[in-house]
Amino acid sequence: MFNIVIFGAPGSGKGTQSERLIKNYGLHHISTGEVLRGHIKNGTELGKVAESYISKGQLIPDDLMVDILANVFDTEAAGKKGVIFDGFPRTIAQAEALESMLAERGSKVHAVVGLDVDDNELIDRLLKRGQETGRVDDNLETIKNRLEVYHNQTYPLCDYYQKKNQYRNIPGKGNPDEIFNLICEELDKLAHDE
Ligand code: AMP
Repeated sequence: MFNIVIFGAPGSGKGTQSERLIKNYGLHHISTGEVLRGHIKNGTELGKVAESYISKGQLIPDDLMVDILANVFDTEAAGKKGVIFDGFPRTIAQAEALESMLAERGSKVHAVVGLDVDDNELIDRLLKRGQETGRVDDNLETIKNRLEVYHNQTYPLCDYYQKKNQYRNIPGKGNPDEIFNLICEELDKLAHDE
């Protein structure tokens, strides 16, 4: 398997770039945010729990989130060429759990692609997305909470993955096609080195 984590703050373009990566590399996409929104839409018990966190811009507790991810992975990823993890991991504990989960299944994270975008641009993008899609957590107050959570709990993963030499920083502001080309260059280098 060839597994990638697409990493970045809310609004950094993880979903947009994942769509392109799926087409180009034939990978399977797992977005934990989408999984949770699916549960909310279907009115499941998990959806009710998830909604209480998502509406405040907080993270779902690690234990619960790791169980959800392992479940989705085992249901969807069998026989696939590889997976793009989008929105997971968001904490060091999740990153450690992902590593063990993949090791138990004879695989690993091959690269972490980090999209680097400044906060002002993120806020503009998320407010615009809120207007276009009606996503409940894309309002100014929740956006500010999500960015604070990102800086405190998720951003330390850059350092974590840099130390493991897995982190590839990509400037995430500008033309999406150009950003995608930069990602491809990094991944192609990696495939070449493997
Ligand atoms: P996203 O669509 O990735 O922006 O995720 C939307 C919301 O879902 C986040 O603000 C969190 O409340 C929740 N969520 C998604 N992925 C995770 C995760 N890996 N850990 C904890 N909460 C998550």
